[in-house]
Amino acid sequence: MPALALGIPSIRRDPAQMPSVTGRPEVPGLVDRFGRTARDLRVSITEKCSLRCTYCMPEQGLPAIARENLLTATEIARLVGIAVRDLGVRDIRFTGGEPLMRADLAEIIRRSAAVAAGASISMTTNGIGLDHRIHDLVDAGLTRINISLDTVDRDHFARLTRRDRLPAVFAGIEAAKAAGLTPLKINAVLMRDTLGGAADLLEWAVVNSVRLRFIEQMPLDADEAWARDRMVDAAELLGVLGARFSLTQPHREDPSAPAEEWLVDGGPATVGIIASVTRSFCAACDRTRLTAEGTVRSCLFGDDETDLRALLRGGADDYTIADWWRAAMWGKQAGHGMERADFVRPARSMGAIGG
Ligand code: SAM
Ligand code: SF4
Repeated sequence: MPALALGIPSIRRDPAQMPSVTGRPEVPGLVDRFGRTARDLRVSITEKCSLRCTYCMPEQGLPAIARENLLTATEIARLVGIAVRDLGVRDIRFTGGEPLMRADLAEIIRRSAAVAAGASISMTTNGIGLDHRIHDLVDAGLTRINISLDTVDRDHFARLTRRDRLPAVFAGIEAAKAAGLTPLKINAVLMRDTLGGAADLLEWAVVNSVRLRFIEQMPLDADEAWARDRMVDAAELLGVLGARFSLTQPHREDPSAPAEEWLVDGGPATVGIIASVTRSFCAACDRTRLTAEGTVRSCLFGDDETDLRALLRGGADDYTIADWWRAAMWGKQAGHGMERADFVRPARSMGAIGG
């Protein structure tokens, strides 16, 4: 598979410059060798963040990406356009690092929305500063938002994120609701440290009419402290929540969806659990990812990346870029491989990939 240095591409669609793939059917979409098709694009736009969540970032933050290596708003929109128009992508989600750290976020969204007809434009954020910018973002074309929040206890939040910013997150959540981005989804990473506050978090979510989803912690923390035998799994969480709430499982409309939904006290409130480690949904994965530096990463756990920025800046046309993207997807690995004894963590941490 093509590595980070791809050389100078041609402007025309010269077969000699095209990636070589064997066995790939001549279809436009992002198909892979395991029968999956990617329609969901995660675009990381920065490595910077206003928090330092212990399960994600190192205390000092990630090494800064040189400004010239970061994709510009125009470059991001060009790749989004190729993804939607030529590759069949239907969901675009901006992430990071913290997307709100980019001053040109509204411009990124506006330019992307202009070339992404028929696709949804959403964002995953920690919510800090969102209250000041929500109207610009919605006006630019943002249609959905997920906010990450692991605890509603201020001291605990400060320890977990290494920043005392819980009130700012609450302000962001209120602003998103007031702007009509509902039902608002809240993502919480499940850790031994957060398990004690999980029922309080769910109670807060029910009272505030937001849809809470717990996510099993993955070995993607920059500090490399994750250990399989210490992680909290979905079963343990269900035991803890079940002590305060009655949880029942309605009929699952989409058994391949990552989140298992439970009705809380008979509904209508629900809680979701994404068992990314213990109940791998790799077989149904429909994601492709762009890093902030413009490489395609087909799997969270696959370090094999294809450098689209070099193609863009080398003058490649959209057909050529789309073909390299297809080749990258064809080489996607079957799954994260965490169950294997020889599992090796990826070189990038979550904040450097874009969750
Ligand atoms: N800063 C934004 C935020 O926190 O929502 C966007 C980027 S963050 C990397 C995206 C998502 O990844 C967040 O919901 C975060 O909780 C999740 N995440 C980070 N590290 C994780 C890990 N080790 N395991 C599971 N989820 C993780
Ligand atoms: Fe920042 Fe999001 Fe990572 Fe927390 S999870 S450190 S908010 S990028």
